[in-house]
Amino acid sequence: MIRETNSPEETYRLGEELGSKARPGEVYCLNGDLGVGKTVFTQGFAAGLGIAEPVNSPTFTILQEYNDGNMPFYHFDVYRIGDVSEMDEIGYEDCFYGEGVCLIEWSNLIREILPEHTVEVTIEKNLEKGFDYRKITVESR
Ligand code: ADP
Ligand code: MG
Repeated sequence: MIRETNSPEETYRLGEELGSKARPGEVYCLNGDLGVGKTVFTQGFAAGLGIAEPVNSPTFTILQEYNDGNMPFYHFDVYRIGDVSEMDEIGYEDCFYGEGVCLIEWSNLIREILPEHTVEVTIEKNLEKGFDYRKITVESR
């Protein structure tokens, strides 16, 4: 599926739509350059899961867990990860193979430990189409 958005609100709503359809055990992999809208998408996604708590990208925390929604939500932002062994320290396997939903910003940085089946969400800019234009590709793997 490819969706084009022209504002943060639209990207938020797409995240919300996907979050409301998410199922326990799913792992969403979110990639795209800095400032492209990954966190905006994630905030919508969390809202779609029924999470009321504010969601942001904590600078020095790789994992944030939210338990006030329809199911546990594990938000990873691995941008600052040095080595995949840091994921072991966090206990990522309990999240990836548990009863909640995972969303991983910058998942390409930890490709070797991603599960076999994921939902890939890629956000891209195209300045020829405007500053706020985003192309969002969603594919199941
Ligand atoms: P990332 O997490 O990918 O680094 P953020 O979600 O933190 O990026 O920031 C995205 C920025 O881009 C925000 O300032 C947001 O307002 C802006 N923006 C402009 N147009 C869009 C759009 N169509 N979708 C998402 N964000 C957009
Ligand atoms: Mg971010």
